[in-house]
Amino acid sequence: MFPDIDVNDKGHLTIGGADAVDLADRYGTPLYVIDEMRIRDNYRRLYRAFSERYSRFQIFYACKANTGLAVMRILEEEGSGIDAVSPGEIYTSLMAGFEPERILYTGNNVTDSELRFAVDAGVMINVDSRSQLRRLAEIAPEGLRISFRVNPLVGAGHHEHCITGGEMSKFGIMESEAAEVYSLAVDMGFEPVGIHAHIGSGILDPEPFMLAVESLMDIAGRVSEESGVEFDFIDFGGGLGIPYRPEEEPLDIEEFASRITGLFREKLSEYGLGKPVMCLEPGRYIVGDASYLLTRVNTVKESYRRFAGVDAGFNTLLRPAMYGSYHHILVADRPLDEAVEEIDIAGNVCESGDLFARDRKLPEIHEGDVLAVMNAGAYAFSMASQYNSRPRPAEVLVRDGESEVVRERETFADLLSKQTVPPRLLKR
Ligand SMILES: *Cc1c(COP(=O)(O)O)cnc(C)c1O
Repeated sequence: MFPDIDVNDKGHLTIGGADAVDLADRYGTPLYVIDEMRIRDNYRRLYRAFSERYSRFQIFYACKANTGLAVMRILEEEGSGIDAVSPGEIYTSLMAGFEPERILYTGNNVTDSELRFAVDAGVMINVDSRSQLRRLAEIAPEGLRISFRVNPLVGAGHHEHCITGGEMSKFGIMESEAAEVYSLAVDMGFEPVGIHAHIGSGILDPEPFMLAVESLMDIAGRVSEESGVEFDFIDFGGGLGIPYRPEEEPLDIEEFASRITGLFREKLSEYGLGKPVMCLEPGRYIVGDASYLLTRVNTVKESYRRFAGVDAGFNTLLRPAMYGSYHHILVADRPLDEAVEEIDIAGNVCESGDLFARDRKLPEIHEGDVLAVMNAGAYAFSMASQYNSRPRPAEVLVRDGESEVVRERETFADLLSKQTVPPRLLKR
């Protein structure tokens, strides 16, 4: 599933049928380019694989991966729900046209006012702690339908920071107290209808995910036996990984779906859980490989090492600096040329850690070349900042070779827009 490298008759990289070098010339760099059909294909592949095997299946797109309105609209059209982790994401989802019933709010360390916002918005609240339950009880209407996030003591992920299950994780309710907490919720007047776990991110090996499914089903079974709760939905979270390196194997989604739905059905009948909706909350899997970050080489520098300096930095794409993540990079002007040199690709932020790649094998690079950083659709723009007072880049959406701006490039004025200077400090 590693994105195919498509090239036009000029030998330039194309994205969704559009010439990447032309896009860079026309809209400037750095530039995020989103391939609409790639998002739709990813969604449909996943949806089909699961719904063919278990018809009561729903995807809640984890929008923290990419909250762009155009991306959200595409997924709303596809029939997705939303996994929101903050009031801002709930707001954005509503503005993108998602019905509140299609939004699941999985907050973490949530304030009372955030809970009130979620209750007023009418979204499903996925409760993370006893504290949250107690505080929710004070504002929630009688009979509010809720779900709980439990920590199934299984974790996995591409980086320590992305493991969200297991003993070290701050997320969810301990599995040993799950049944008790559900009973407590019933006593408090709630109607618990869902159970949820999300064990981590960037998972390419089905095994830990299978363990989490098994564990969550056993917990659901126990909760149902001990508290009499009937589940409308069981949500296994997201975390489905994508290959970032060409040699990495993608998840075999058919096999993955077959194993998970198989185990799910077995456990449903073992515990007599009926036919709840099965949910997944993929973020990265849906949008990760659908965007490219285009950045132009402005400096080729021979120092102690050989550097290609570009006009983007970790303010634009944080993952390499934050997680040490690998992102495959193409020279958009000639992506199929043979790799002849090893070079560091360095950003323009004033920190030594601002590198997109070390010793990367690439075709010979010249000043003025456009580089395409692949797999820049998830946790990319959504983590961008104005650090070093650099306005955030533009985003364009491409489909059938046509491109449209879906987010304007910020300006210098945007850097100052929310600031005020006390009158006594104004320059006279
Ligand atoms: C981040 C997150 C996801 C999605 O993670 P991906 O690795 O992008 O699939 C799903 N559910 C919850 C609760 C999350 O916090």
